[in-house]
Amino acid sequence: TPHDAPDPRTGAAVKAADRAHVFHSWSAQGLIDPLAVAGAEGSYFWDYDGNRYLDFTSGLVFTNIGYQHPKVVAAIQEQAGKLATFAPAFAVEARSEAARLIAERTPGDLDKIFFTNGGAEAVENAIRLARLHTGRHKVLSAFRSYHGATAQAINLTGDPRRWASDTGSAGVVRFWAPFLYRSPFYSTTEAEECARALTHLEDTIAFEGPAGIAAIILETVPGTAGIMTPPPGYLAGVREICDRYGIVLVLDEVMSGFGRTGSWFAADLYGVTPDLMTFAKGVNSGYVPLGGVAISAEIAATFDKRPFPGGLTYSGHPLACAAAVATINVMEDEGVVGHAAHIGATVLEPGLRELAERHPSVGEVRGTGVFWALELVKSRETREPLVPYNASGADAAPMAAFGAACKKNGLWPFINMNRTHVVPPCNVSEAEAKEGLAVLDAALAVADEYTT
Ligand code: PLP
Repeated sequence: TPHDAPDPRTGAAVKAADRAHVFHSWSAQGLIDPLAVAGAEGSYFWDYDGNRYLDFTSGLVFTNIGYQHPKVVAAIQEQAGKLATFAPAFAVEARSEAARLIAERTPGDLDKIFFTNGGAEAVENAIRLARLHTGRHKVLSAFRSYHGATAQAINLTGDPRRWASDTGSAGVVRFWAPFLYRSPFYSTTEAEECARALTHLEDTIAFEGPAGIAAIILETVPGTAGIMTPPPGYLAGVREICDRYGIVLVLDEVMSGFGRTGSWFAADLYGVTPDLMTFAKGVNSGYVPLGGVAISAEIAATFDKRPFPGGLTYSGHPLACAAAVATINVMEDEGVVGHAAHIGATVLEPGLRELAERHPSVGEVRGTGVFWALELVKSRETREPLVPYNASGADAAPMAAFGAACKKNGLWPFINMNRTHVVPPCNVSEAEAKEGLAVLDAALAVADEYTT
């Protein structure tokens, strides 16, 4: 194929035009050196110089069925030939079918689907739905969370990415969700962490005034903030608190949904049904921008006779919806969700735990399915992170050295602060998963050099 012999001269031209004219997201424009990508297939991508990388990032944790799946590519092509675009107010086959397939898989009575162009917009609309439904204004969101980069979504975000953009949006109140390894409550057991986190949430609600709180938003399993699987009972406890005070529970499954955790949605793992659930990314493996909010029957009924004031020009775009239909069908036909659970339990979890035993830089391994984080530390005893919180430049050198060692050996790693996340496609093969673990082994030896 042409991809087997990409031309470095083309790569250089692609890079030069990029650096001349593309203003990159989340980047200091003068400090970046983006790889020119020549192509991708399955779990791999390659550059114009003949370097091939195993993608342990799934892009930005969205290629849940890998790159260039022929059935999804064909469905997009077919839809483009039939009806490439159409306005949101009409009933369009691809959109109807995508909504049906999603509603059949979301938990409980989350049977109405509001489509968006991505995750942040889904979060914006979930909050709008909750406020209009309850007639209340305040929203509680967790520190150590990420909900997107638009105005409301970045304010709801708890991690440092919020700092530069925080306009102090009225009504957003942050609380601590459980995280035993770095417990905000000084807990030493999961049961203690769960109980204390629920008490803290109750106290926060009591002092904010329950009658003014529209929603609590939580990532079911927080993703970019560190893949902190919640302790047993926590989400059920939050559900109970929401019910008691008439607060809408929004679970953000933009990253954890569509197979990532080894079930369709992380909410299934914890047996909790939210009132609103946001999704994006894996819904169509990111082939065409798509996200949405799954809405409970009760909240949907609020808007039976009263218009819902929200939506963008391209909401529920036919190409994106056709890609979602094809992706969900591929996931069913190829047993991708079960595979993610299997590869997590039989290869990734034991492999990562074995690495943790041998490498002093690994402080903790946590996750589920194809959704894992390694917390890298200077010292296991003190748990001091391998790089300082929100480090950049020279301070971030140990993680940069770890990342360079991965890339040198053909693995593209996901790195955030002092963590590397192991988030390959949900259909990553056993051989690919083992290949990635072997590269991590070599790169962790580099990280070990920075331990004390
Ligand atoms: N919510 C969560 C949990 C996410 O992980 C992300 C993106 O990483 C978003 C929302 C924002 O999604 P998008 O970048 O598609 O707007």
